Amino acid sequence: ASTAGGKSSNAKLVLLGDAGTGKSSIVLRFVKNQFIDFQESTIGAAFFSQTLTVDDASVKFDIWDTAGQERYHSLAPMYYRGAAAAIVAYDITNQASFDRAKKWVQELQAHGSSGTVVALAGNKADLIDSRKVSAEEARRYAQDNGLLFMETSAKLATNVSEMFSQIAKRLIEAQ
Ligand code: GDP
Repeated sequence: ASTAGGKSSNAKLVLLGDAGTGKSSIVLRFVKNQFIDFQESTIGAAFFSQTLTVDDASVKFDIWDTAGQERYHSLAPMYYRGAAAAIVAYDITNQASFDRAKKWVQELQAHGSSGTVVALAGNKADLIDSRKVSAEEARRYAQDNGLLFMETSAKLATNVSEMFSQIAKRLIEAQ
């Protein structure tokens, strides 16, 4: 239900990125404010809904946590088709996961919907001692490609709700 005078909308949001980067953990933190250290990887796709109110407008995120994209890459377009927003996750301690995230961004730009809001999430930001991807490099890449960017920690709850809020803001502005 919309707040008095406010706007209300639904937004399909997908998570993309290498297995192990923390996609399910980001969703779990956002939806339930929980963290599980050794989580079984998601089989297929898990689905969650969560409403966020920013200023006077609310966005109901329909979140598709799409595991198995690496093994079943051909299924990926089915996930991101019609997505209002995508979070592309990498692990700041894993350079290959950052390279892979860039590939996902390219694929979204080539084959996704034109208005999809894309957020790049450098997750596991709590593991600074093992950092392999600099924040500056990632921020520059995000800026050059029109992406939102945040370093997040699903473990410590850093920047997770902030990232969803920024996405919601962009979606509301675009309405
Ligand atoms: P997914 O395969 O991308 O969905 O990744 P998961 O959410 O299953 O997370 C993979 C592993 O990384 C799990 O053991 C998580 O507990 C761990 N993990 C996820 N997010 C973080 C984080 O922000 N910091 C740390 N230190 N570990 C995390």
